[in-house]
Amino acid sequence: MSGSLITDLRRLLGEDAVLTAPEDLVRYEEGWRYGKGKALFAVRPATAAQVAATLAACRTAGVRVVPQGANTGLVGASTPDGSGEMVVLSLERLNRRLEIDPINRTAKVDGGVLLSALNEALAAHGLMFPIDLGADPSIGGMIATNTGGTRLLKYGDVRHNLLGIEVALADGTVLDGMNQLRKNNTGLDLKQVFVGTSGVFGVITGAVVQVVPIPGQRATALVGCASGAAVLALLQALERDLADVLTAYEVISADALAPVFRHHEGLRNPYGTAQPPAYTALVELASTLPAGALDLPGLLEERLGAFLETEAGEGTTDVFMGRHEDLWAIRHHVSESLRQEGRVLAFDISVPRSRMAAFTQAARALLAADFPFVRCCDFGHWGDGGTHLNLVWTEADAPQSASELVPVLQSRIYDLAVKGFDGSYSAEHGVGPHNQRFYAAYTPVPIRALSGVLKAHLDPDGILGTTRLD
Ligand SMILES: Cc1cc2nc3c(=O)[nH]c(=O)nc-3n(C[C@H](O)[C@H](O)[C@H](O)COP(=O)(O)OP(=O)(O)OC[C@H]3O[C@@H](n4cnc5c(N)ncnc54)[C@H](O)[C@@H]3O)c2cc1C
Repeated sequence: MSGSLITDLRRLLGEDAVLTAPEDLVRYEEGWRYGKGKALFAVRPATAAQVAATLAACRTAGVRVVPQGANTGLVGASTPDGSGEMVVLSLERLNRRLEIDPINRTAKVDGGVLLSALNEALAAHGLMFPIDLGADPSIGGMIATNTGGTRLLKYGDVRHNLLGIEVALADGTVLDGMNQLRKNNTGLDLKQVFVGTSGVFGVITGAVVQVVPIPGQRATALVGCASGAAVLALLQALERDLADVLTAYEVISADALAPVFRHHEGLRNPYGTAQPPAYTALVELASTLPAGALDLPGLLEERLGAFLETEAGEGTTDVFMGRHEDLWAIRHHVSESLRQEGRVLAFDISVPRSRMAAFTQAARALLAADFPFVRCCDFGHWGDGGTHLNLVWTEADAPQSASELVPVLQSRIYDLAVKGFDGSYSAEHGVGPHNQRFYAAYTPVPIRALSGVLKAHLDPDGILGTTRLD
């Protein structure tokens, strides 16, 4: 059966569009962090019409399909399951369309265009797509996961920057919703169905995104804070005084910071040999105004200095102004440094910003009481209520195996975030097989039912994806 499907797809898409050799399939079968499966084969269409034809052929053959962009997703949703019966539909060759309208401040792109390629083309017009992260995903994948990133505080997530979408449905039709308007209140905003839903309702073949001017200058500082409450007090003061130009507010706990300097001697530790405070905030300001019109570093230094003199600033311990690249390098090395420390269980949690300090404190108390061998190395996007609570331990210190421990830790921490702090078990990475059981546990029944109705309508045979949202 797969033989005739392969023959049909090669006839429709070209001989080299279908990969079947095990050595060619390896890179489509394993995700960045989670997800390792076995593909029936991989197919790489180059146009929306080819994506649609691929889906129609797979549906007729009764073969399930997992869409895959750049495969940088962190919840195991971009790789096939272990059955060996799923086709990987890679969008890597769907990258020809990249049209920029500098006056409308929009870009019309194919779903497989990489973020780096989009930004390279936009830079020629002094523009950028403002979703910023430490990976190079595809635009279709970013839409399917509703990527957040480090500048969400200023620009919002993908959802906020998406104007239009083109989607190939499981029956082989192409839905053209390539809206270029910022204002268009004419009924159902269908594109939102495909944002953050892991490609289970259709394959995104094109998009219209709004883009922004590249700031002419940035100013960056690291600020030491003695407690989570001090981190929030600083954020509040920065938003009061500098909201127009505040573009990032990232936070690293002392337990997450120390490994960065342990494993990267080239990075300068601003605290030197002194013990860092409980938290370090990375503050970034950016503006399109030239340095001659606005002294951004001077403004940041002056405002931080003034804050230190206030009662609210009592928990602020240090201020280090520095080169943008050097300070961000510290932030970007956290995740990978922690992996060198032992076993890591990563969480991608959000809570209301006002409750972030209390949540991390409660998580630490829970771990200290019941899992004293676990280090809580939290860091992340406090500016938008997100924290990557990374738990680190060494197998030798743990009384149980990781496979026994992980589900227990997940349930305890997610229950705390979702039930105790009105939070989310997946702030920005999506659902995917990694979070499937938590979707089932925490999603209200009416939302699952509505999602099931959409699935039954858009993909009645259930051929798309490995995530279940019903
Ligand atoms: C180092 C690193 C840092 C990261 N930092 C962040 C961060 O700060 N913030 C954040 O939000 N994420 C972050 N991520 C996660 C990741 O980059 C995003 O989820 C990403 O946007 C996924 O895009 P992709 O093209 O790689 O999609 P893939 O990984 O290929 O796929 C992800 C999901 O989208 C579906 N999909 C892919 N393409 C399509 C399509 N065209 N149509 C329909 N469905 C599709 C897949 O089936 C899967 O369900 C990071 C990842 C890494 C590795």
